[in-house]
Amino acid sequence: MNPQPASVSPDAENRPGLSLSYGYGTDRGLRRELNEDSFIASDPVFAVADGMGGHEAGEIASGMCVRALAAMPQLATGERSVTAAVLQQYLLRADSSIREATGARAGTTLTGAVVVEQMGMPYWLVLNIGDSRTYRLSQGHFAQVSVDHSEVQELVDAGEITAAQATVHPRRHVVTRALGTGDETEADYWLLPVEEGDRILICSDGLTGELTDDHIHRILSTVAHPQDAVDALIQAALRNGGRDNVTVIVVDARNVMNDAGIATTAPRPTVDAEVEVTLPRAQIVDASRAAANEDESGKH
Ligand code: MG
Repeated sequence: MNPQPASVSPDAENRPGLSLSYGYGTDRGLRRELNEDSFIASDPVFAVADGMGGHEAGEIASGMCVRALAAMPQLATGERSVTAAVLQQYLLRADSSIREATGARAGTTLTGAVVVEQMGMPYWLVLNIGDSRTYRLSQGHFAQVSVDHSEVQELVDAGEITAAQATVHPRRHVVTRALGTGDETEADYWLLPVEEGDRILICSDGLTGELTDDHIHRILSTVAHPQDAVDALIQAALRNGGRDNVTVIVVDARNVMNDAGIATTAPRPTVDAEVEVTLPRAQIVDASRAAANEDESGKH
């Protein structure tokens, strides 16, 4: 159901300059008939795709999306040489193959983090299109890195509603960008230095629709092992209703070294080389999806 195209292991992968350990999980939830989320968790690529479009089309879209990422040669070699430009090429391929396969009737969100190296230093290259989310817990500070491409995010940005109102807004599931459908298919990218002890959370909206950021933060900062944290988050989402498919990846970074072999203990300045803060245009969600959003099954 959920493609894991490359070999995956939740155990620590010890590589020069950085060891990653990670956990992952997905659950259909309590209301949906299908799980239309897909994910990939294989050093150096960690990403979640949330498919949309009825009758298994969403599953096809999200599956094609993660398979497109899995085709990157870096997955076979483990090289940390991916760039935003390279990622963009693979996303374009994913976008066209989804359109071909589904006639643009299905789409998918995509968010995640790719571990890359620049000048001998490790970075999280975070990408996002749609309203799945990537968060970072770093040096005790927990924050959402990705910015949702959604109608409610636009209303929040415009100061028309608060973030709290967005969580219960009737159109909170309407995304303004997606791969495979609509006119807006461009991803945003962020480049963040990997700090010692960083914990990255990548999740579909089946998690963030059920749990507040505070609740998520509490679990992430109290459950040590990444797989245990994933399991705790999914269980909490199910306890709170499990109204959507929920997919979670947690990645921990340890033994972060620079190219001189020096462990980095102090935060380095953020390098926002790839920041794109393009504001989404007016919503482009097609009519059938917009109508379907009247109930909560509008997006899967
Ligand atoms: Mg969803």
